[in-house]
Amino acid sequence: MGKRFIGIDVGGTTMKLGVVDERGRLLHKAETPTPSDGQAGLSQMAFQARRIAGEAGISWEQVAGLGLGLPGFLDIPAGKIIRLTNLPWENMPVKDHLEAELNIPVAIDNDANVAALGEAWSGAGAGLQDLVCITLGTGVGGGVITGRRLVHGVSGLAGEIGHIRVEEDGALCGCGQRGCVETVSSATGMVRLVKEAVAEGRKSQLEVQVREGTISARDIFEAADKEDPVALTVIDRATDALAKVMSILSVVLNPAAFIIGGGVSRAKERLFSPLRRAYARHTLAHAAAGVRILPAELGNDAGLIGAAGLTAKWETLG
Ligand SMILES: [Zn+2]
Repeated sequence: MGKRFIGIDVGGTTMKLGVVDERGRLLHKAETPTPSDGQAGLSQMAFQARRIAGEAGISWEQVAGLGLGLPGFLDIPAGKIIRLTNLPWENMPVKDHLEAELNIPVAIDNDANVAALGEAWSGAGAGLQDLVCITLGTGVGGGVITGRRLVHGVSGLAGEIGHIRVEEDGALCGCGQRGCVETVSSATGMVRLVKEAVAEGRKSQLEVQVREGTISARDIFEAADKEDPVALTVIDRATDALAKVMSILSVVLNPAAFIIGGGVSRAKERLFSPLRRAYARHTLAHAAAGVRILPAELGNDAGLIGAAGLTAKWETLG
């Protein structure tokens, strides 16, 4: 029997666990609440890792490694959590602790990077050497893979493409800059643009949802289907900004594909058609030739599959 790898995608409220084979195929998965206490979190991860191996019907000897996807600031080479985004886990040497506890190699990386790795291993990017994954959700996340390796950069910030500035005097971003692509192309950014348009008195069928405070990116794409002028303008602006960022990345990295995931990507062609048009408009023809813009395939499993891939040396596997 081949090797098996365990991945844990640690979220603010739940942690998702999966057992993956050498080709990145998910064999078994489970979910459990995330303890807010860091020490309890470590014990829970060790316990759940052993439990899921048992549930998957494999012996601990078959488990070749454990990888964690974590949201926040990490010392990736050292395997340490510095500070997480939605959890009060701080200054934790998770790699050392779990390796001592479980007796297998452990690696950590941030949530956007593990999602990219998952898609590259067994998702939309399977078989490709060079690709960029973009997650459009409450923010804009990214992961860059070149020559089948995740790019981290000198301080682990490579791939943070949500903070490339696209508008000179744009809205204030969570990072402290103004006009980041995240302020325009994320679900949050698109909702903000609709609210601003309605506040300026522009006519839109989205006025009701804006007034009731329920408006979502999904509403915007549905309104665009009915030719709502505000929805169409906001989608154009969001896809145009993202395409500008993709055009820069194309010249720098010349990837074979951009893989787009996250909640906003569920709009499918309503997002992809304007995005492809804007990309063709902004990108040097030579750099755009043959570059594919594809929807992510693994959905919420991308993170745990990619986390499992952190210890799999997947670039040398099938
Ligand atoms: Zn920013």
